[in-house]
Formats: sequence, structure tokens, C-alpha cells
Amino acid sequence: MGPRPVNLLPVAEREPSAPPTLGGAAGSRDEPGASASEGGSDPLSRPLPSVDMPLLRGQVRAERAKRLALGIALGVGALGALAFAILGSDLSFGGDEEEPEAPIEEPAALATGPLEPLPEDALFAEEPLEAVEPEEPPPPPEPEPVESEDGLQRFETQFGDALGFRPALVAAGLSSNECADVEQALDGVLDFRRCRPEDRIVYERDPAGELVGLEYHDEATSYVVVQRDDEGALEAERVERELETQRVARSGVVRTSLGDAIENAGLGRTLVGVFVEVFDGKVNFSTQARAGDRFRVLVEEERLEGEFLRWGQVHALEYTGQRAGELRAFWFHPRGQERGNWYDETGRELRGSWLRVPCRYDRISSPFDPRRMHPILRRIHPHNGVDFAASTGTPVWAAADGTVTWAGPKGANGNLVSIRHEGGYMTHYAHLHRIQRGIRCGVRVDQRQLIGAVGTTGRSTGPHLHFGLKRNGRFLDPMEVLNGPGRMLPAGQLGRFRRRMRELRAELEAAGEEPAEGEERGG
Ligand SMILES: [Zn+2]
Repeated sequence: MGPRPVNLLPVAEREPSAPPTLGGAAGSRDEPGASASEGGSDPLSRPLPSVDMPLLRGQVRAERAKRLALGIALGVGALGALAFAILGSDLSFGGDEEEPEAPIEEPAALATGPLEPLPEDALFAEEPLEAVEPEEPPPPPEPEPVESEDGLQRFETQFGDALGFRPALVAAGLSSNECADVEQALDGVLDFRRCRPEDRIVYERDPAGELVGLEYHDEATSYVVVQRDDEGALEAERVERELETQRVARSGVVRTSLGDAIENAGLGRTLVGVFVEVFDGKVNFSTQARAGDRFRVLVEEERLEGEFLRWGQVHALEYTGQRAGELRAFWFHPRGQERGNWYDETGRELRGSWLRVPCRYDRISSPFDPRRMHPILRRIHPHNGVDFAASTGTPVWAAADGTVTWAGPKGANGNLVSIRHEGGYMTHYAHLHRIQRGIRCGVRVDQRQLIGAVGTTGRSTGPHLHFGLKRNGRFLDPMEVLNGPGRMLPAGQLGRFRRRMRELRAELEAAGEEPAEGEERGG
């Protein structure tokens, strides 16, 4: 499995100055199976941004060829890891449980605290490309010793294609007695089943040929040491390596796609996902990114013994675009809260507590419309929700924290999940192909929790999610109502936030002084 499919939206074919509401008609590729759709011209009816956002068709083709070549070079494993990392970052962000319209001031009201929008680990689980390149073929079984300064002989080899831990030790040159001792010492310290070909075995012998110690390097941030204790018996422990972190600022200009620009700036491509999620609802990068748009990022670089390991926490994002306008986001961890969150310059949470769109959809096949002509019933029949066309099996998430009040078949709704939320809100998810195991009446769900999969059960013309929102018994348009702003930080936290924000912003601005490599500054 490779990177996720690219949205081939020919953005460049459209009038750059056309208002967003006219954007869809002319040049855009028709979605397969599109039916008459009142939502077709709505910017919200576009597909959610995918990881790559190409701007020009020709460049897309060139880009594809390039990516194909890269894909071959990196091998299936690397792509799998990349896809896995992307998937992980896409699916694992949460939000916060508060309802959008009535900001609650006292933190005591937040029983569980906000969920982290972008778990740090998931974002950059992707290892740098160099690190996932296929390793050299395993070295010859008997390693050549290297004399170290204290007269010890040092041997180094890889686990390679050994069939197990014992054969790997044997191939490394250990006697069967030594193997048994090492294995015994490692019992409970190293999981022998999780050894990988790229793991390294390093050991030393004294001038008499006796095994002095052994290291097993299996993880980037730690390794296992086997040493002789005072009695001469081998004992093992895991040693953590110290991770050095440093905030670095990077900037770039969009030429073909945001993904390319981010890659050209020397950053991991998964950072696109961070931009997309953080600015969700503010800009749609797949339709509103333009050549010449600029971005700046402040991100933690994690190093081990001076060597780049991976990208860590993102601290600040800036995007300045022809269509997108000027967007900034700052990561801040308020006191007394479990995790940090993204804020704008005024100290307001960037994203509200609702997922306006509870699945990855292709287009809005039918908007909220109290006076709709029903396609099957052929009469005025209010459409009390939004229909998101998506293929069968597409994951459906809870739009906010709440309690399940219905999970099962319900007439024309087909398989239906209903969730009660704070503030008198209810959400309904209809026509589901299946309901997620464990989702049943009375169960608490978190925002973005998987509740089922898109289908076409009940009265439905094709696979889509009917998403309904009700407050105090009245149906509302989720696309309007759920677009509310996030909460302001409590007054007592604002001073600290502003100091932090100014510091981050100054670092961010330092990044834009010189043009990124191979790119001139965009207009
Ligand atoms: Zn519907």
C-alpha cells in the first residue's frame, strides 16, 4: 500500500479570483456515481484534503512519476511504514468535549479534560526517509574483530536473516555455552520474538578470548547491555539513550503542492496532515492552496548523539495564501490540563469541540434542506441532515463526546447510531453499513471514536452517511451550527500564553528570512 490517493483537483484551471461558491463547476472532475446534487457548488462539497495537494495537472504527472521512482527506491516496506504513519496521524486526533456555543469558564466543568488534537507520537511516527531505506544485505556471519584501545576485541554484526536469536548469536561467533548464558541473562529484558534483521549485535572479548560484554541494538532510543557482574555472571539491562531536542524553524513556498513544499523544506511529508487538521474549517488545502503560498513551521528536531532521529512536537504553524489568507497556530499546554492544544494568536482554541464532518467523504450529496424534494418519495420532504457520499466501509466517527442512545436498525434510517451530547445536542448517523463492535445504548463515546462504517442500509440510493444534528428536539444544519469557534483560554492563563506565543512567533518569523532551497520567495 502506497501513499493515499491524490485528489486530482485541477485548481489551476479555475479563476483564481472566483468566489469559493463558484469554484466547483467548470474544471473539476466529476465524482463517479454523482447524482443531482444541490451541494455540488458548495466549497464544503469538495473532498477533504488528502495528504498531497497538487496544483497543476502537468506537475501532478511529473510528481507521480517522481513518486513512482521514489517508491521503487524505497521499497514496499518503507511505503508501508509511511502509509501507516499517515494513517496513524489522520485517525488519531481528538478534540475537546465542550459544546461550541456556550463556553464554560470554570475548568472544573471539564470532567475528563480536552483530548489532544494531535498526539505527538502519531504525528511523526514516520522515521526519516534515510532511516527506512532497505538496509544493506546482512554481513557475512563471522565478523572481523576490531581491536579497541583497552586490548579488547570488538565484534559487530547484524541480526540479519537469522532464524532466531540463538542462530543470530551463533552466526555472530558466540560459542553455544556463551549463547546459553547470554540468552539466560536477557530473559525478561529482551523480547526474542521481536528481533529484526537490522538489529545489531556488538560484543567484546578480552585477550584470553573470554566474552566480556554484549550489546543488542534494537531501538533508536535504547539498547540492551549484557555485562559480567562481580561474580562473573552475565546480567542484562536496557539502557536509554539521551534524546536531544531542539526547536527548529523551516519555511517554504508552495509550487506544486503543500506536500512537495514541505518535503523541499526538509520536513517529513506527514506534516501536511498537521496543517490540514489544525486549520480544518479555516482553509481547504486541496482547493484553496495556490502556487506562491508560503508556510512556516516550528518543530522539534529529535537527535541522538548528534544524529537526526525524527521530527517531534510541532510548536507553531503559519500559512499565508492567496486564498487561504494568513493563518497561524500555536501549541500551548494550559496549566491544569492533561494535554496541550492549538490556539490562535488571541488565545482561542483553533478547533471547536465538534467534528463538523464525521467521516472522510467524497462530496456532499445532499445538504440540509427543510424543503427538499425527496429523490425516492417524490414529494417535499425535509432533509434533516447532511448527506456525505463516501464509499461503503468508510469509517464514521462520533462528532463529539457523548452517550449512545440508539445503535441498531431503525426503519428508513437503516443502521442508525444516535448520540446524546452536552447542551441538549443529539447527533444521528444513518444508513451505516455496520455499527462498530461495542457501540450500544448507554455507552460513552469520545469525539472521533469509531462508531461504524458508511453504507446504504434503509431508504438510501447509494452509500452515504446521513448526519443529523438536533438540539432540544429541533433539527439544525450541522455545517452551520458546528462551525463554532473554540474556547478562549481562561483569563488566568492568558499572560503565560501570550509570552509563549510571542516567543514562538519570533522564532517562526526568523525562518522566513532566507528563501528555502531552490525556491524564490513567492509574491
Ligand atoms: Zn440524508
